[in-house]
Amino acid sequence: MRAARMAAETGAKVALAEEYRIGGTCVIRGCVPKKIMMFASSHSARIEDAAAFGWNVSGGGFEWSRFWPRLRAELDRLESVYRANLERAGVEVFDQRAEIEDPHTVGLADGRKFVCKHILIATGGKPFLPSNTPGIDLVGTSDDIFLMPELPKSVLIVGGGYIACEFSFILNGLGVETTQYYRGAQILRGFDDDAREHIAAQMGMRGIGLSVNVDVARMERRDGGILVKATDGREATFERVIYATGRRPNSAGLGLERAGVPLGGSGQIEVDGYSQTRVPSIYAIGDVTNRVNLTPVAIREGAAFVRTVFSADPTKVDHSNIPSAVFTQPEFGTVGLTEAEAARQERIEVYSTAFRPMQNSFVDRNERAFFKLIVSKATRRILGVHIIADGAGELIQLAGVALRAGATKEVFDTTVAVHPTMAEEIVLMDSPIRTA
Ligand code: NDP
Repeated sequence: MRAARMAAETGAKVALAEEYRIGGTCVIRGCVPKKIMMFASSHSARIEDAAAFGWNVSGGGFEWSRFWPRLRAELDRLESVYRANLERAGVEVFDQRAEIEDPHTVGLADGRKFVCKHILIATGGKPFLPSNTPGIDLVGTSDDIFLMPELPKSVLIVGGGYIACEFSFILNGLGVETTQYYRGAQILRGFDDDAREHIAAQMGMRGIGLSVNVDVARMERRDGGILVKATDGREATFERVIYATGRRPNSAGLGLERAGVPLGGSGQIEVDGYSQTRVPSIYAIGDVTNRVNLTPVAIREGAAFVRTVFSADPTKVDHSNIPSAVFTQPEFGTVGLTEAEAARQERIEVYSTAFRPMQNSFVDRNERAFFKLIVSKATRRILGVHIIADGAGELIQLAGVALRAGATKEVFDTTVAVHPTMAEEIVLMDSPIRTA
């Protein structure tokens, strides 16, 4: 959408084809509905806390039947806003599938063909399911969560990545009995180890049944649900099983082989720094290229494509130090290197603290906030920031600016604290907990 709109604004004649709904994964079945569900879910803890703060909070509980139509209406509204923005920019929208016929020809499902100077592929990704697990046809994916007319009483979430962890917290907060199986030793592989442990502990405190080193061996339909036999021999029945075992580039059947565009081992479209494939007229951006699979990165790649192709300003996207957030409860914001990555690269100092925020102490909630800075011994620059706290998604955006500006530990130390906040801890950690 961004690339189409920006290209049209340069005066190019632009058409866009979409076979499902305008908005893509992020708006229709990803970030946006997920975040709205997270807001809904986070009220369960808030309502408990409100009682401890002296509010009379009575009865009730969450009703999916009141929330869900509103969520769907909001997605409809957003879709129409995006469509209107495209049309206002002069983009012609075709609500159907498109396939590439040759380096300059795109065919639509209805048989129409278009000859174009440039083709941009931004078809995103699709949930991946391990097809060799018996009973895999019984499970759902993140795509299905937003389409559920009713909330299940119990759910098993399989996986340990962003999507699995976010939905464990969301569904647990909405009152669903939530169990999560992860095949490895600790969830959120690739993130900072201390942060991973902190979030796993947090899951326990919220009542999520997380089991690590466990995978699904087989599944069968049983009255009232799905019987799951796990690799460690345990058996349990869940009303629904949701797999969040990764996503793969959505590149199949687009006619890429026919046009001579090479694909990598996971089906990703191979591109250079300008998002150009080996076929000069064909570019690709976003998850279908499997670089950094985040919406804002795809948007940057789309903007860089427009500058490169339509504004004679060859532009690459810098994929380093990208801040991101995992919407656990509390949230996890992260930017830069993990401790292990930084220690492999150079000598470092690690600053970290975990504490009960004021509002949690007041209501006897045991949950802790977590702040961690990784600092280069040689340059004093901050190499990584990892925060688990309410609003960490908001905080990490600014930490990302500091990191890109090359801020040193001394810049943090000489910044006056904002009191009383949780975030002040980030400028008050004066002794390293370890060096490596
Ligand atoms: P991830 O790649 O983050 O995680 C996949 C998980 O599934 C891993 O824990 C992986 O285990 C496990 N897994 C993979 N294959 C199997 C298998 N065959 N059997 C059992 N477990 C398996 O993918 P997600 O689906 O969570 O998310 C996809 C992408 O979407 C992310 O990479 C992220 O970029 C993006 N995203 C971003 C969000 C955000 O910014 N807040 C939110 C949601 C998604 P192992 O670790 O052992 O490989």
